[in-house]
Amino acid sequence: MRYISTRSPSTDAADPKRFCEILLEGLAPDGGLYLPDHYPQVDAAMLEKWRGLAYADLAFEVLTLYIDDIPAQDLKAICQKTYTEEVFGTPEIVPLRALEPGLFLEALSNGPTLAFKDIAMQLLGNLFEYELARRHEELNILGATSGDTGSAAEYAMRGKKGVRVFMTSPNGRMSPFQQAQMFSLQDGNIHNIAVDGVFDDCQDIVKAVSNDLDFKRQYRIGTVNSINWARLMAQVVYYFAGYFQATHGTPGAARKAPPKVSFTVPSGNFGNVCAGHVARMMGLPIDKLVVATNENDVLDEFFRTGVYRVRGSADTHETSSPSMDISKASNFERFVFDLLDKNGQQTKELFADQLSRHGNFDLSASSAFHGVPQNYGFASGKSTHADRLRTIQSVYDSFGDIIDTHTADGVKVARENLTPGVPMIVLETALPIKFAATIVEALGRLPARPARFEGIEALPKRVQVLPADAHAIKAYIARNVH
Ligand SMILES: *Cc1c(COP(=O)(O)O)cnc(C)c1O
Repeated sequence: MRYISTRSPSTDAADPKRFCEILLEGLAPDGGLYLPDHYPQVDAAMLEKWRGLAYADLAFEVLTLYIDDIPAQDLKAICQKTYTEEVFGTPEIVPLRALEPGLFLEALSNGPTLAFKDIAMQLLGNLFEYELARRHEELNILGATSGDTGSAAEYAMRGKKGVRVFMTSPNGRMSPFQQAQMFSLQDGNIHNIAVDGVFDDCQDIVKAVSNDLDFKRQYRIGTVNSINWARLMAQVVYYFAGYFQATHGTPGAARKAPPKVSFTVPSGNFGNVCAGHVARMMGLPIDKLVVATNENDVLDEFFRTGVYRVRGSADTHETSSPSMDISKASNFERFVFDLLDKNGQQTKELFADQLSRHGNFDLSASSAFHGVPQNYGFASGKSTHADRLRTIQSVYDSFGDIIDTHTADGVKVARENLTPGVPMIVLETALPIKFAATIVEALGRLPARPARFEGIEALPKRVQVLPADAHAIKAYIARNVH
């Protein structure tokens, strides 16, 4: 398998890369995102063969289609070590539960930090450790977080050989639970940096440091942001796992045409749902892929109108589903590349020229855009704070099940997109305890707290407070890299 950039002039680009080359890289040198040069196809016979597999074995079958520069037995061992009941809480790893007839929740949020990002990040941690050891190299991961990404990265990289994490976050602005999750880690290779500023300041600092190429090279700075192909690839697996659980025991399933299912995905950076798109392109029988947004509705607007209009930070609303408060979806370019028939030239014009010049591009006149529902299955919808509260209440009243605010956005939009006879799976992206204040607002009671998080707010904290200044961050990194 070879990887190309979404901005490369042709699909048989002069410089295709292999998996391990792009694993430790962020953006491609031309500013595009890496994608495999084709999607491996899965047929009905393969699907039936995979149906009974344990999650770790299923992960190996999917990953091995995309990775040919790690020996199979090593990749298998990495999958086995990553997807265990001990780390993810259940033998199924991503258990499915029925909410109402035809509507399911797939729990992606039982990992170490209680959000779906663990599923990909835990794999990334093990892949990084493996590849760095093989190369006798080290990596210093510099990141910015407003909550879920940073803790998922820290729990994945803690104690890993060859990796240090420097994670910036806005001082005092994360929820007490999120702060406690990150700052209570005592591992020597994890560095929490609370920046006196807002999330945008943290992101600007990361950009400034990454743009200092000498510093970046000298201190081997890397990232783990959601544009990393390995994260996306890891997420493809749970679309298969959800499909198998929802169609389990469907009469005649194996013989005739395989049954279809739909997914609704609470979305921000388009990483999660882009993995669903990849699964569908591989041949997984997905009917609809429903993109659910909150008040920050850039993606819903695109799928309704064909206009992609990014927002500035002043127009980015702070909502009660904060992990979706995104106004520029960093993975969206991957889908547009496919939509434009893998035309890298045109993708580059839209993202590098039009978007930076006008802040938007308009595909409403193109036939490709009008074919989106038919050819790619996409639909969309949005949800507001009031919808969120109502949905949390209705799910609790009917089923006694407390769902988190992001998942509630998904359930709200899923209910508007049901097709009779096609199971709808909503991805549960976090557990409600992470967003307890809104649950109390909706239900007047606190959600359950997993036993391992009892009392974490009282644990000693390991965090360095620094000014919002790239020089201060660089000096801190230099002091702590030996
Ligand atoms: C990151 C996150 C999302 C958004 O996922 P994207 O891949 O950015 O679209 C949704 N819900 C939760 C809880 C998250 O942490």
